[in-house]
Amino acid sequence: MNFGKLQLNEEVKKKLSSAVDSGTLSHAILLTGGTEKERKELSLLLSQALLCENSPTPCLKCNICKKIKSGIHPDVIITEGEAGKQRSIKIDTIRDIRSRAYIMPNEAPFQIFIILEASGMGEEAQNALLKILEEPPATARFILASRSRDDFRQTILSRVTPFAISEDSGQAAGEKENSKASKAAEDIFSALITKNEAKIMLSTGALEKDKKNYKLALERMILMFRNSIVSKYRTDSEVSITEKKFSDVFSEKEIINMQNVLKTLLSDADKNANDNLLVTRLAIELVACIDR
Ligand SMILES: [Zn+2]
Repeated sequence: MNFGKLQLNEEVKKKLSSAVDSGTLSHAILLTGGTEKERKELSLLLSQALLCENSPTPCLKCNICKKIKSGIHPDVIITEGEAGKQRSIKIDTIRDIRSRAYIMPNEAPFQIFIILEASGMGEEAQNALLKILEEPPATARFILASRSRDDFRQTILSRVTPFAISEDSGQAAGEKENSKASKAAEDIFSALITKNEAKIMLSTGALEKDKKNYKLALERMILMFRNSIVSKYRTDSEVSITEKKFSDVFSEKEIINMQNVLKTLLSDADKNANDNLLVTRLAIELVACIDR
């Protein structure tokens, strides 16, 4: 396989090359790590490698290769979520992919469905995707790309072949910040679910000494609180697994109180210079919202 100008670590190149060249690349693969740009480039390059008829593949010059690169190949369908933003890929989008996957390809031997920043799928969307991955039509291939394996349910992971792009290639700054804050928010939610005070204290510790991250994480959590409340009333709402668990464990009143604590802390963050005190208050005040 020809990687063109794409810089990847040799180990990954070797693995992908041997799978592509021997025609044994799994029908569903997951690319993780690297930057958003690298994941997108590799997804397109792999599609070219699978469909280009020249050797070594992809030639990057033929009509097929060119069409894929410009995103106009009728059998390469690209869906793109937003990095660090859950539910940016709607369940209807996945349902569309599903119905389309059962239609015959236009000109290629099979269709390739690329889902970039696939962490944008909430629980419902992941469930819908799982149904396709469980019974994939013979004429469909899937390339998922995301920051981390942690973005997916175990059931999805068991259906895809993972390829980790080099982890140390340096993520784009914004993406890195967002994912750091999202991870902190997720960790605090998981700790809250246990209702264990020590775990909650420990989980908020990650926000010390980094005010920007602290504020991003709080904003993210306020959104997650809202989703948890919504999921109490609407079974069709697209919530993450953590949010669903959260809404099962806490009452609406508890969640609203926590949400208010965060709103106050967020506005205090701009006034109060003592960041570590804010982090301590975060843990203590969240714990105080839990009914015992
Ligand atoms: Zn070509």
